[in-house]
Amino acid sequence: MTPALSVRDLVKRYPTGMEALKGVSLEIGSGEFFGLLGPNGAGKSTMIHCVTGLARPTSGRIEIFGHDAVNHYRAAREAVALAPQEINLDMFLTLEETLDLHGGYFGMSRADRRERAAELLDAFSLTGKRHERTRTLSGGMKGRLILARALMHRPRLLILDEPTAGVDIELRLELWQYIERINREGTSIMLTTHYLEEAERLCDRIAFINHGEIAAQGTIPELTARYGVGTLEDAYLELVGRQELSRVHIEETAA
Ligand code: ADP
Ligand code: MG
Repeated sequence: MTPALSVRDLVKRYPTGMEALKGVSLEIGSGEFFGLLGPNGAGKSTMIHCVTGLARPTSGRIEIFGHDAVNHYRAAREAVALAPQEINLDMFLTLEETLDLHGGYFGMSRADRRERAAELLDAFSLTGKRHERTRTLSGGMKGRLILARALMHRPRLLILDEPTAGVDIELRLELWQYIERINREGTSIMLTTHYLEEAERLCDRIAFINHGEIAAQGTIPELTARYGVGTLEDAYLELVGRQELSRVHIEETAA
């Protein structure tokens, strides 16, 4: 089966000379829930920007469901969606207008936009608010609307850049349920997060990235075996070279 995302030898050098990606390769299977973990500055957003056409790779290949995302971006663009970390809603649009405008960017017909918007507003429990401006929404509703907007053009690959950064516990749990459902219904997902329990709950496979390179990738048992540790947290601490922060280490020292 064609992978949802295939990245080969991806290099991104910014004009400053900063090499943010140094030959990254990874593959996300169709239907898979994939996590990208690494410290700040590791290159996660750069990778997401290259995949979604917001940044131009220096070299390497990116295919989204077999469509070349670098040189023939059109088909690739239709297959992918990004839910960015920051809330970037237009405060003066209603919920319905927000979805309609996004569908318009993707060339959806008026009838299709109307039908799809109604379907998503219902799925995300936002139908009662459809004529209100987005600025009147609670944080949770904004998060749901951003997800609904990303899904408007029926992407087969959804990329979530820290969807739960700084949100309260209820909203995080609620967003997890929605994201899990989207994945169950067939959408492939790439997620970045700093919350290891989020990655543990949601992801089928995880890649560790640091200094622009993939250090390891696999299922959680594969990652812990690779580093010879017991938990994802300890594997992560091996990645960033901070073993002294391990709970095992702290317990041993205290004993
Ligand atoms: P992450 O999302 O993992 O925190 P980024 O991809 O944002 O990492 O950044 C990777 C590296 O590239 C960092 O050193 C960052 O400072 C640098 N970087 C990011 N964007 C730019 C840019 N537009 N110009 C120059 N350097 C950048
Ligand atoms: Mg980032």
